[in-house]
Amino acid sequence: MTAPRPQHAPLLQFPVVDDCLQVGGIALTRLAQRVGQTPFYAYDRAAITARVADLRAHLPADVHLHYAMKANPMPAVVQHLATLVDGIDVASGGELRVALDTPVDPLHISFAGPGKSDAELASAIAAGIVLNLESPGETERAAAVGERLGITPRVNVRVNPDFELKSSGMKMGGGPKQFGVDAEAVPELLRRIGTLGLDFHGFHIFSGSQNLKAAALHEAHEKTFALALRLAQDAPRAPRILNIGGGFGIPYFPGEERLDLAAVGRNLDGVMHEVRPQLAGTQVVIELGRYLVGEAGVYVSRVVDRKESRGSVYLVTDGGLHHHLSASGNFGQVIRKNYPVVIGNRVHGGVREKASVVGPLCTPLDLLADGMELASAGPGDLVAVLQSGAYGITASPGGFLSHPAALEVLV
Ligand SMILES: *Cc1c(COP(=O)(O)O)cnc(C)c1O
Repeated sequence: MTAPRPQHAPLLQFPVVDDCLQVGGIALTRLAQRVGQTPFYAYDRAAITARVADLRAHLPADVHLHYAMKANPMPAVVQHLATLVDGIDVASGGELRVALDTPVDPLHISFAGPGKSDAELASAIAAGIVLNLESPGETERAAAVGERLGITPRVNVRVNPDFELKSSGMKMGGGPKQFGVDAEAVPELLRRIGTLGLDFHGFHIFSGSQNLKAAALHEAHEKTFALALRLAQDAPRAPRILNIGGGFGIPYFPGEERLDLAAVGRNLDGVMHEVRPQLAGTQVVIELGRYLVGEAGVYVSRVVDRKESRGSVYLVTDGGLHHHLSASGNFGQVIRKNYPVVIGNRVHGGVREKASVVGPLCTPLDLLADGMELASAGPGDLVAVLQSGAYGITASPGGFLSHPAALEVLV
């Protein structure tokens, strides 16, 4: 007997009615008519709302939840999330403009990222948001810009921790990094911030991304609080903010299981119970991107051609890696694996077959599904790539091969 093949995590966020996927309560065939073209991305408003409610139910009540908007900067999505979360984290001047259009108080908007330009620093300081300082050089520039504008910059220190978030899809801390200030160099920078008279708010400690293991997050949270308490001793004032990062992952590939959010919440509550007395005036913040929006989005393309090549079936669609680089396996993945993909208008289907879904680009990299079991499909059918609400259209090379852009809708 051979071991059963690993499966994709069960599809939970979109109902299937009459064998058709429903997004935002609308049948995908109908939604495609409404959008008026394929390819498009659709984000389910209720699924985003439900995800935030789930987080609120499991995380300690005194933790603030921020949206890291680079995961999905569509203005309608950001506006919707702005009514649900406590703050927004931006990573560019462009994202800052979108965040400032929401009702979120600038005090609850923070700006991280290496290489902030003087123009970006000036807008951020004038807006009164909190800068996450990434280096001593940036600290000096922020002080100079503040001086020029006559406004005292509000700053957090982004720390490059002396540990990493284990089993992460993307490691963002530990070892040499372009992000943050090495933990051991932070005390000196804190003294400089005091000398420069900057308005010190707190610390930002982000150690990794796309993590599905509650135990790894628990360990990182313990180390994050211990590091913050140690660094706080050298701060010009007690930290008002401690952003402990996020890194909550979602299941993309066969064999991956959903993060046990209840365990994450219980563990974090335990860790915070120990440190609360020492962090009396400190607001703890968790920043999440992918976890808030990733499962709420679907990328929809239409089959243009069906062909067979030496026994293999190819469904050629009007969408591909130019809109969805990560589903093609070319956004940081080491080994290409299939995202969950279904024929949206015939999810289960009477007849099933093994097929590959490819895009219209003249490169073998343009692959949305490689030899996957799908309902039998042909021209006119809709291919839906699930788990596509984060790092989709804005993380893709839209100009490559000059095909039309995809549309985005929040339903
Ligand atoms: C990208 C990023 C995030 C969001 O990561 P997700 O995996 O989408 O949750 C959060 N914080 C910082 C500093 C980031 O750079």
